Amino acid sequence: MRVLITGAAGFLGSHLTDALLADGHEVLGVDNFCTGSLQNLAHLEHESRFELMNHDICESFDPKHVDYIFNFASPASPPDYMRLGIETLMVGSAGTRNMLEVAAKYGAKFLHASTSECYGDPDQHPQTEEYWGHVNPIGPRSVYDESKRFSEALVTAYWRYRKVDARLVRIFNTYGPRLQANDGRVISNFMTQALRGEDLTIYGDGSQTRSFCYVSDEVDGILRLSRSDEHAPVNIGNPSEWTILDCANAVKRVIGSNSQIVFHPLPQDDPTQRQPDITKAKALLGWEPKIDLETGLKLSLEYFRSSIKAAA
Ligand code: NAD
Ligand code: UDP
Repeated sequence: MRVLITGAAGFLGSHLTDALLADGHEVLGVDNFCTGSLQNLAHLEHESRFELMNHDICESFDPKHVDYIFNFASPASPPDYMRLGIETLMVGSAGTRNMLEVAAKYGAKFLHASTSECYGDPDQHPQTEEYWGHVNPIGPRSVYDESKRFSEALVTAYWRYRKVDARLVRIFNTYGPRLQANDGRVISNFMTQALRGEDLTIYGDGSQTRSFCYVSDEVDGILRLSRSDEHAPVNIGNPSEWTILDCANAVKRVIGSNSQIVFHPLPQDDPTQRQPDITKAKALLGWEPKIDLETGLKLSLEYFRSSIKAAA
């Protein structure tokens, strides 16, 4: 297949690019580098089946015939999407629409990267795909949450009215090598802080929870979904739920760090709990994650160590 991946220079997009090339496909990566990095694709410089286009998907373009589109372009870390608020809303609206038009034109299959943020600060726990969410439509996170919810509506409408063969993956917090060390997400912050011997910054009292999925498990789930015929959203995430305080201590254990833990104010609308119900992914795709948090942190250690060295 000739596959188009938007957001290919990002954390997940670059891993997906590697996995699809390994499966023997040709990949056209499209990225405007607003949060991604050429470094994530540097190892593909001499790969003849990979092509990279520097382009903002909010501007329409013709990639020529493609068989599959993985739509992953969007700022994703809270500091990034709050800095790029309007761009985030636009990529989830104009950008997603442009890619759906390409899919309609070439009869390409489509998979859109959605998110657990569609559930907002959930009052159902764990979150099943049937849950409609609890989202503040005008709060600081709304630029991301509503962008992603609008994309889900748009993708579903193109499936319903225009017969685009589309899928929606709701990704829960994913981490691993190529997460930008300075993107402000919790794993990037804790790993770089612990490696530098700095204090680990917990926002709030650390009792809020997240469920962390290692990148190879996430990509495996996404690829299985891409081969399925499911059009409704599917949660792909690791159901093992951690408080942020326990996560900080796990990072300290893995690194052997004696950094202090310090507490900062909790950002507005920060979700208090997050845990995927993956019953559907298990039944439909035969998928469940294999890598627990401490193993995944160990697998990420060398990457964060070299990122810090490169930045020094
Ligand atoms: P990332 O920031 O590393 O990657 C996003 C990529 O999209 C970057 O390379 C960026 O430059 C590119 N991009 C942004 N706007 C663009 C535009 N208008 N045109 C072209 N390229 C553009 O983030 P990530 O963690 O790899 O996330 C990838 C996707 O997965 C996003 O859609 C995100 O919402 C979704 N997601 C990620 C997570 C996670 O935990 N990593 C969780 C839920 C959903
Ligand atoms: N967080 C934290 N310290 C940090 C960065 C994040 O305590 O240095 C918290 C954040 O407030 C949230 C959780 O960790 O409760 C996950 O944050 P992240 O930005 O990684 O992703 P989110 O799931 O909030 O989008």
